[in-house]
Amino acid sequence: MTREALSSRFRGFETTIFAEMTKLALEHDAVNLSQGFPDFPGPSFLKDAATAAIAADKNQYARPRGELPLVDAVSRSYEKRHGLVYDPLNEVCVFSGATEGILCALLGLVEPGDEVILFEPYYDSYRACTSIAGGTARFVTLHRPDFRWDSSELRAAFSDRTRLVIVNTPHNPTGRVLSRDELGEVAELCCKHDALCLADEVYDRLIFEGEHVCIATLPGMKERTVCLNSTGKTFSLTGWKIGYAAGPADLIGAMATAHQYATFAVATPFQHAMVQALGADHHYFDQYLDEYCERRDFLLGALRAAGMETQAPEGTYFALGDISSLGWDDDVEFCRFLVETVGIAAVPPSVFYAQSDEGRSLVRFAFCKEIATLEEAAKRLQSHSLKRP
Ligand code: PMP
Ligand code: GLN
Repeated sequence: MTREALSSRFRGFETTIFAEMTKLALEHDAVNLSQGFPDFPGPSFLKDAATAAIAADKNQYARPRGELPLVDAVSRSYEKRHGLVYDPLNEVCVFSGATEGILCALLGLVEPGDEVILFEPYYDSYRACTSIAGGTARFVTLHRPDFRWDSSELRAAFSDRTRLVIVNTPHNPTGRVLSRDELGEVAELCCKHDALCLADEVYDRLIFEGEHVCIATLPGMKERTVCLNSTGKTFSLTGWKIGYAAGPADLIGAMATAHQYATFAVATPFQHAMVQALGADHHYFDQYLDEYCERRDFLLGALRAAGMETQAPEGTYFALGDISSLGWDDDVEFCRFLVETVGIAAVPPSVFYAQSDEGRSLVRFAFCKEIATLEEAAKRLQSHSLKRP
C-alpha cells in the first residue's frame, strides 16, 4: 500500500501524552503521577448501584441523549447549584465522558474555517478536536507566574470569525480557578462577537481557594453556553466514562446529532448508577475535598523538600513544579529522566502549548492518588537529586 493509513486529520495528534506517560510508567515500574486517574476505589454506594442496575436488566441501548432519571438528575443539579434551569429532555445530553462531549461540541457546532479560542496550556483534546472539525484554533496564553491572560491578547484573539471559546475552570493543568471578573471579560467578548462558549467544568468540585463561577450564569451567557461536566473526576470512577452537558436546546441538539453517529448512546447501567451520584449530599463532597487537600499538601511538601518550586493549585488534582532552578530547560527531557532514573512518571506541559514556550520549565504531577502512593513518590524523590546531571 502506498498511502499512509492514518488520515491527515490526525497528523500531529498520533498519541496522547497521557497514554504515552502511563505506558512509560509501566515499563519503568514508576509511580504514576502522570495521567489523572485515581488509584483508589470509587465509592461503594455507586458500585452497588451499578451492580443493582445490571441485575435489574438495565443493559440494553440507552436513550441516545441519556436515560431519563439521569437527565432529570443533571437538570436538578444545575438548578440547585447555579439557579440554571434546563429542560431535561431537550437541554441535557449524556456523553461517553467529557471527552466525547468535547468532540461532539466541535463537530456539531463548528464549521470548517470557524475560529475557536483556546487558552494555553490547553487540555490536549481541545486542540485535536478543533483540528478534526476543520476549525482554526486561536491561542491565548495564560502567562506565568500566575497563569493569567493579558487582556489585550484576549481581545485580539476575538473577532467576528470566532465561533467558540473553550473555558476550563478549575483549569487543567495550571490549577487556576478563574475569577468572576476574568470570566466576565470572556463573557463580554462572547456577547460582543456573538460567539459560543463551551465551559469545561469537570473539576468544579475540587476547589481549594476561591469559588466556582459557572460562566452560563453571567449576563447574556446562558443562551450561548454549553456547560460540560464528568462524573469521572468527582466520583473517582473515570473508567465509567459518564459525562454530561447542559445548554440551550439548539446547541445541545447539534451536539446530540454528532453524538448519535459517534456512540449513539452511553453505557446504560452506569448511567443509572450515576443518578445516585448527582443526588449525593454535602457529606460526600466535604469528605472528597478534605481528602484531596491532604493529598495536595502532601505532594507539595514532597516536591518542595526535593528542591522544586511549586505553587499550590487553587483547584483540580494537578500541581505544577518549576524545574528551571534545578538546571533543566526542557520539560520533556526532565520527564524522561524522572521516569527512567527517579521512578516517577509526570507530564511535560509543553505539549499543552502551541505558541508560548512557557511550559518548557514546568512539570505536571497528578495527586489523585493514595497517600501511600504519594509517600512512595516522596521516598524516591528523597533518594535522588533532581539537579540536571
Ligand atoms: N476536560 C478536562 C479538563 C480534563 O482534564 C479531562 C480529563 N479527564 C476531561 C475533560 C475528560 O473527561 P472524561 O474522563 O470524562 O472524558
Ligand atoms: N484528564 C486526564 C489528565 O489530564 C487524562 C485523561 C485521558 O487520559 N484522556 O491527566
